[in-house]
Amino acid sequence: MFNSLKTKILTSYLILILLITGVAVWSINNFLGLSSAINDIMVENYRSVVAAENMMGALERQDSAQLLFLFGKEERGQELFRESEREFLKWLSRAEDNITIAEEEEIIKRINDGYLKYLQDFDQLQPKYRQDSSQAREFYLAEIMPHFNQVKEWAQELLTVNQEAMVSAQQKANSNANEAVYSTAIVSILAIIFALVFGIYISNLILKPTEKLIKTVKKVGEGDLTQEIKVNSKDEIGELAYEFNQMTERLKEYEEMNVTKLIAEKNKSEAIVKSIDSPIIVTDKEHRIVLLNPIAERLFQISEEEVIGKHFLEVIKEERIFQKIEQVAEEEGLKSDNKQEVLKMDFEEQERYYRLMVTPVPGKEERVNRVITLLDDITHLKEIDDLKSDFVSTASHEFRTPLTSMNMGLSLLLEETPGGLNKNQHDLLAAAYEDCQRLIELVDDLLDLSKIESGEIQIEFDDVDLADLVEASVRPLQKQAQEQQIELLKKIPADLPPVKADPNKIVWVLSNLIGNALRYTKGEGQVKVKANQKGKRVYVSVIDTGIGIPEEYHDKIFDKFVRVKGDAAINVSGTGLGLAIVREIVEAHSGKIWVESEVDQGSTFTFTLPVAK
Ligand code: ADP
Repeated sequence: MFNSLKTKILTSYLILILLITGVAVWSINNFLGLSSAINDIMVENYRSVVAAENMMGALERQDSAQLLFLFGKEERGQELFRESEREFLKWLSRAEDNITIAEEEEIIKRINDGYLKYLQDFDQLQPKYRQDSSQAREFYLAEIMPHFNQVKEWAQELLTVNQEAMVSAQQKANSNANEAVYSTAIVSILAIIFALVFGIYISNLILKPTEKLIKTVKKVGEGDLTQEIKVNSKDEIGELAYEFNQMTERLKEYEEMNVTKLIAEKNKSEAIVKSIDSPIIVTDKEHRIVLLNPIAERLFQISEEEVIGKHFLEVIKEERIFQKIEQVAEEEGLKSDNKQEVLKMDFEEQERYYRLMVTPVPGKEERVNRVITLLDDITHLKEIDDLKSDFVSTASHEFRTPLTSMNMGLSLLLEETPGGLNKNQHDLLAAAYEDCQRLIELVDDLLDLSKIESGEIQIEFDDVDLADLVEASVRPLQKQAQEQQIELLKKIPADLPPVKADPNKIVWVLSNLIGNALRYTKGEGQVKVKANQKGKRVYVSVIDTGIGIPEEYHDKIFDKFVRVKGDAAINVSGTGLGLAIVREIVEAHSGKIWVESEVDQGSTFTFTLPVAK
């Protein structure tokens, strides 16, 4: 029956309207009945009262008519008597037509009989009066008067009976009215109670499922897809609940599908991580450990179960690795840090070398979500490199002394100390001297590099003002720049904070970069040294308007002996070791160096230094 909300609401309205109509009809009927009952009784009795009064009046007049008759006014008396008789009879017949009380009939009968006697008396009085007037008067007093009084008394009785009936009718009407008021009040109260109870029932019928619906929708909104709305009604809400349950069911299936996929993906990547034989540690944004592989467990002597969720430093006391992780996590643009930072660590009581590779994993909105730290075991490479470095270093050392004496000898010969030289001899010796110089330069660079690589040269950190370092680097090159007609500019902000650096080494780096900038700028141009602060780092750039570097060399030129091949650089002498030394120094300062360049447009070499704490 209650198939839709609309029918539910309309039906309840209809029921309430029917109830109100019922109560109204019942009350109206009650009052109508009451008023007609009062009317009926009052009108009937009132008529009888009027009849009785008129009868008494007519009777009085008849008595007066008899007296007139007795006192000689025969004609007038007779006339009045007959007139009043008609009047009396008229009212008597009205009273007879209007019998409402049981006693009335009997009283009227008595009046009727008594009045007949009274009329008969008058008929007898007339002949008596004509015979003897005094006898007639006696007859009046003895016979007529008592009959007159009798009839009058009965008429009075009729009047009283009706008056009393009116009073009791009024009382009855009053009590009926009171009863009607009470019963109407009771019926109205019952109707109100029913309407209230019914109203609550109907609103519950509608609201209860709605509330259930709202509660469940909220929970589902919060992500609890196990919720089901239990609404059994067949109305719109029931339909809505059914559709909603279908929807959550589909959502659940969809989520389960995704969750299964995600778990499979997660297992896959975990399996990959675990199968790699280089130590890997995955951390989250707050640097808590998320995942690590068995080899990392062995290297740091920890167990995955115990360390998951803990802060990196709480578990692994390797400040250097953590610094790199922090740096990568804070870096904008999600750059991984795969510079050749090499760590020396003990693995199961063996000294091993690891190349630290820290890679950010983007999450939402390109922000770092996870950081993967991989320690690439390069012990074997390091051993080969050490052998090579040892060889280079030994060879350089061995070369240095004979080269110095060759240089001395050539220089003395060129100065013609042992004796004069002809033009050809001089030219040959000059060329040999130049080559010897270049060899010395190469050997010096090689020695410097091997010293830095082997850690022989110690970096002595100090809080220094970068402007001073730039000044110290630029000053000796000013003359060369002037000769080459190159403008040499410095742009160091006055509020730049001090940096944590070894001043001599950084002056070396800057001199090398500025020197390169001047060497690789042909003709007029500009070389600018610029610095600015970004977070905890200072970025230093050497910008030139020189020949530029092809894209494929941008990473390679920092390796040993790499020089750009091509016509432009062909006439510039060099060893290809300068930038390798520069990178070693910058990295020893926990910094980075890179180049941005376009051929024929110029190059910008930028390196970073830590801000002093
Ligand atoms: P070199 O002694 O050859 O200059 P570097 O290590 O200093 O060795 O530089 C390596 C190579 O990088 C150079 O040979 C040159 O080709 C290129 N290079 C370095 N600086 C510049 C620069 N400012 N402009 C163009 N090329 C440059």
